[in-house]
Amino acid sequence: MKGALIGCGFFAQNQLHAWAEIEGAGIVALCDTDEARLSDTARRFGIERTYRDAAAMLDAEALDFVDIATTAPSHRPLVEMAAKKSLHVICQKPFAETMEDARAMVAAVDDAGRVVMVHENFRWQSPVRRAIDMVRGGAIGEPFFGRVSFRSGYDVFSGQPYLAEGERFIIEDLGIHILDIARAFFGDVDRLAATTRRVNPKIRGEDVATMLLSHASGVTSVIDCSYATKREPETFPQSLVEIDGTEGTLRLDAGYRLTIQAKGEESVVDVSPPLLSWAERPWHNIQESVRTIQQHFANCIAEGQEPETSGRDNLKTLALVEAAYRSAATGETVRPGEL
Ligand code: NAD
Repeated sequence: MKGALIGCGFFAQNQLHAWAEIEGAGIVALCDTDEARLSDTARRFGIERTYRDAAAMLDAEALDFVDIATTAPSHRPLVEMAAKKSLHVICQKPFAETMEDARAMVAAVDDAGRVVMVHENFRWQSPVRRAIDMVRGGAIGEPFFGRVSFRSGYDVFSGQPYLAEGERFIIEDLGIHILDIARAFFGDVDRLAATTRRVNPKIRGEDVATMLLSHASGVTSVIDCSYATKREPETFPQSLVEIDGTEGTLRLDAGYRLTIQAKGEESVVDVSPPLLSWAERPWHNIQESVRTIQQHFANCIAEGQEPETSGRDNLKTLALVEAAYRSAATGETVRPGEL
């Protein structure tokens, strides 16, 4: 499959490294409104066909899919443009700025008979995936409690300065991934309550969020995120997990240590992600998941399957983000299904 990537910024570099290793799909053209980023990226990856305007690129190129790696405000027009050209779409998170936009984007690609997948990669990190597979396989019986935690003092603002500028920060940017991991473990959510705080005075949005989720499966989970936690060892960008089930417990601890205690036995496994040739610590965990999710996209298109993190599925993760902001603002418990 021939693809074009739109948005040659900070994170797209990982996506391009990963596309070079994907079976059955590759990138043949690049687009960015910023000439310097476009030409630097084209040179780095040896991609000759470059465009400053996405519409011009879609008119000129014979493509099967587009990979949209821009920030959220441009996602709806770009997804709708791709749908008009009958292309499959992979689009970065946050998929859209509102539920209304997200629903319209899913409908546009559906009407074109194509597939849209959100680049929701955290559930594809190999340590997290291992834990998901263990829980789904019944290793600790029926889960009844879960905690997914991401607490860090890592400076994300130097690589992504826009993160300091938005009215919304940690739930929309990072919490969205952690909420999606909770959905992967425990299923859909009936009710959500949240608190938020801004600790860092140099940013506009919230950098701490704590969320309490009641899942339809009967699990209660706590999702806690912070970019204001100064501690050693720094665990960025690890998601730490603890789950209690009817038959035992699972812990994914710092340093990618997976412990399962069940039925009188304990297993402790090092589930560190591999360091891909183009990856860099501490980002290697995320970088590996980029390759995995892009291969999943290519496989799903080839096999006519809906991707696990399809646009339709992601509406439920986005609803959790909206519910969390609404709950934090009103002090009320919110039902995401009503948003
Ligand atoms: P960035 O600002 O570094 O890059 C975005 C690029 O898109 C810029 O070069 C900009 O010029 C270009 N662009 C914007 N609108 C355009 C348009 N209409 N046509 C062509 N080019 C356009 O941003 P980033 O940090 O790379 O983030 C991009 C997206 O990736 C964000 O939505 C972010 O949340 C997401 N992200 C995801 C992960 C992850 O793990 N999944 C990690 C980091 C960032």
